[in-house]
Order: sequence, then C-alpha cells, then structure tokens
Amino acid sequence: MGKLLFWILLILAALTVARIAGRMAANRQAAPRGPSARPAPGRPAAATETMVRCAHCGIHLPRSEALLQGGQTWCSAEHARLGAPRR
Ligand SMILES: [Zn+2]
Repeated sequence: MGKLLFWILLILAALTVARIAGRMAANRQAAPRGPSARPAPGRPAAATETMVRCAHCGIHLPRSEALLQGGQTWCSAEHARLGAPRR
C-alpha cells in the first residue's frame, strides 16, 4: 500500500513540474523581452528587411519604404525628382 502512495505522489509531483515548465515556456514565447522593449510591434520584419540607400542624400531606409525610380532607390519623391547629386 505504501508503494502505491509513493507512485501517486511521484505522478502528482511530475504533473506539477510539467505544468510549471509549460507556463514558463508560454511566458517566454508571449513576452521575450518584456512589455516595453519594443513599442511598435507592427513591423517585426524590419530587422531582417533589406536596407537600401537613397541615391540623393545617402540615407539608409527599408526597401519597402524606398522609392524605386530609374533603377535607383530614393527616400522620397522629392529626392527622386532632384536626382543624384553631381560631383
Ligand atoms: Zn534622400
């Protein structure tokens, strides 16, 4: 009878440990860096997005925000109109 009690306690302990581990894993997935680490989670791909350079002012910006015109990239329509600076 004592052996049965031992197994019941062992299973209960294992279940408790599994539940705590599962909750910790869920918390890690939900908030990897805390609530205030990234204020704008709307663009998670920004870090891996290709950066392009404005041919006029040389500023770097994500490809999705850049303007493609005449085979070159620009940061704005104004810089696309002005063109590359003459040297
Ligand atoms: Zn520019």
